[in-house]
Amino acid sequence: MNQIKIGNFIARKRKEHNLTQKQLADKLSISDKAISKWENGRCMPDVAVMLDLCNVLNITVNDLLNGEVVIMENYKEKSEELLLEMVKEKEERDKMLLIAEVIIGIVSLIPLLIATVFVAYNQGIEEWVRTITVLASIIPLLIALPFLIKIEQKAGYYRCSECGHCYVPTFKSVLWSMHMGRTRKMKCPKCGKKSWQKKIVKKEK
Ligand SMILES: [Zn+2]
Repeated sequence: MNQIKIGNFIARKRKEHNLTQKQLADKLSISDKAISKWENGRCMPDVAVMLDLCNVLNITVNDLLNGEVVIMENYKEKSEELLLEMVKEKEERDKMLLIAEVIIGIVSLIPLLIATVFVAYNQGIEEWVRTITVLASIIPLLIALPFLIKIEQKAGYYRCSECGHCYVPTFKSVLWSMHMGRTRKMKCPKCGKKSWQKKIVKKEK
């Protein structure tokens, strides 16, 4: 951010509106010293007054931060770029989450596997010890399960096989649906049909 440029921009816009520093300060209920500081590029308007300042000067926050009126076309391009970047970041994050889901799932299953093998090969020990061993070994999985389902619900999208609609289902519908791997039998919120719906990371159009 170029404070000098922003300061000059504020001064120019203020003069365009035929306002003195004092008049602008009064409109924003701040001291005229603050205005002079901004215009000299010594400091930036506080976030709290930024919106009011933009309203008074009839500019957008984007204009203010750029120190110039951002041309609409350019502005659209910039915001689309930003949006694409955010979408890509989300896709990357979702991919990592889904990998994490598999790892957490496997790790939380290990105690159960060990307990099962232990019980199977130690027929001599008492029944209640065997039962408690197996029950206790399920605890990690029980603790992990809500997180796993949450990941399954939130990361990426489900794609309706009937109408192609991509959506994030509710936690409840993920929890109670039949599934084969990540493909779940759920009701599509758009077409209302129940079908097997695939997990995807990239939203298809
Ligand atoms: Zn559908």
